[in-house]
Amino acid sequence: MLLRSATLAKWGFSHGFSTRKGGVSPPPYDTCDFAMLRDPEALRENLARFGQRVGFDPARLYQATQVHGAAVLEAGGDAASARAVEADAVVASAPGDAAAVRVADCVPVLVADPATGRVAAIHAGWKGVVGRVVEAGLRSLGGGAERVAAIGPCIGSCCFEVSTEVGRAIEAAAGAPGVRAPDHAPGKCKVDLRAAVRAQLVALGLDDANVEDVPPAEGCTRCEAEWFYSFRRDGDASGRLLAAIVAGRNVDPSGR
Ligand SMILES: [Zn+2]
Repeated sequence: MLLRSATLAKWGFSHGFSTRKGGVSPPPYDTCDFAMLRDPEALRENLARFGQRVGFDPARLYQATQVHGAAVLEAGGDAASARAVEADAVVASAPGDAAAVRVADCVPVLVADPATGRVAAIHAGWKGVVGRVVEAGLRSLGGGAERVAAIGPCIGSCCFEVSTEVGRAIEAAAGAPGVRAPDHAPGKCKVDLRAAVRAQLVALGLDDANVEDVPPAEGCTRCEAEWFYSFRRDGDASGRLLAAIVAGRNVDPSGR
């Protein structure tokens, strides 16, 4: 099972945000875990199934070792060895190359440039927001106001409690005072990470109307255990969701 963005589909970009349904991973990672170093056989099958549904060849799926930084991996060459590169954004250009990030509460962002067919997948937790990984990814992607984006399943403001200090840092990096709620306990506040990422995308030149929330803004990985993995909920027993997008616009009228 996967979630799609109507905006990315409308522009002809094959893509998908995975859920925990539709794979073969055993409990507690049931059923569609994309963690890289856990269960090679289940991972291979989950990737094959997801690739078929989204429309990419797993051999051309580019992922990196994610470290909550702001480095960018440019797709190309051997995808298997690229996975050792430390990066939190992946950009792809060659039609058929796919870019992906793994998340469990952090924000997955898929961006596409209809003018060039280039795409980016970005992993943005609070450290990524503060470290401006969205900006780094968009800089590598290139393009202007015509770019379109989808923000995938992530932790909601209902569940994302941080220290006041971290909340202020996120707020400053997003340039959006509304993303941090007032302290609800001494030194503790809640933050809308999804809104922070949206504010950064818009500040970088995207049209707010071309940034879609998938699922809608109230979706929360921690609250919705049936559908999503959540590190804050499950800790080491949490699987990883995958967000992937394929470079090059396809002309499949079904909008696949
Ligand atoms: Zn929640």
